[in-house]
Amino acid sequence: MADENEPDLFADARQAPPRALTRLSPLVRRLVAPNASPFTFNGTCTYIVGKGAVAVVDPGPADEAHLKAILAAVGGERVETILVTHTHRDHSALANRLRQATGARVVGAGPFASKGDGTGGLDSSHDRDYTPDAVLGDGERFYGSGFAIEAVATPGHCANHLCLALLEERALFSGDHVMAWSTSVVAPPDGSMGAYMASLDKVRARDERIYWPGHGGPVVEPQRYVRAIAHHRRQREASILAALADGVETIPDLVARVYVGLDPSLARAAGLSTLAHLEDLRERGQVVAEAPVAGEARFRRA
Ligand SMILES: [Zn+2]
Repeated sequence: MADENEPDLFADARQAPPRALTRLSPLVRRLVAPNASPFTFNGTCTYIVGKGAVAVVDPGPADEAHLKAILAAVGGERVETILVTHTHRDHSALANRLRQATGARVVGAGPFASKGDGTGGLDSSHDRDYTPDAVLGDGERFYGSGFAIEAVATPGHCANHLCLALLEERALFSGDHVMAWSTSVVAPPDGSMGAYMASLDKVRARDERIYWPGHGGPVVEPQRYVRAIAHHRRQREASILAALADGVETIPDLVARVYVGLDPSLARAAGLSTLAHLEDLRERGQVVAEAPVAGEARFRRA
């Protein structure tokens, strides 16, 4: 993912983080949920913020063992708030059970409001049982006991995605918007490549010094990293345009041409990502799509 002609600055960040409770900074601890998959790495990262009266960022999938692990990790502390970056089930589905168990309020992303399940049939569909007590708009702040968190609206991976900035530590809970272990899935119709690229610019313009993502280890030098992933997406877009210019017309053929050596379990995700690029290019007037009469849609350069 790093620039091909630069040394790989981010190799350490791609290591799987330990599943057990880990102290990351004065205000942040992390647990990893037991939901490893090709889309979740070794599981969803759940963060505990503060001391004594704490907030839990992304409680994770609806998994009783993970609920028990969170309750054991907080021990005698009080969970005041459950913060949610977005409503993919691997991030938000445990919110209701944790709210029941602790009396905490659920605060963060708005409820899922798009058509479809928001993933085009990938693993982590949207959580329709998510009922926040309060939704944070872009730039709104949540004040916990001894810390403040600012919501940064970052649509793209999905429409309701928020990053959450922990102001005291210049740290950003980046959810699935920016991760070190992998690129984000951008799956239409809920995901949008145009929105995702704008959201990359938005976080890059901020001054956080570390990101704590929804999966995998921390992103250090985040502005440099975000520049690298934006570059990677623009290269992919250029490859798609070049393939279209050579007469490649369908998404499966584009995937075969553009994603050389792809793990077959990720073929569907690659197809959705290619569709997201094509929709963005179409909105920008660079690609024309032909609605399918039978079989696959066909695309060509405008
Ligand atoms: Zn997600």
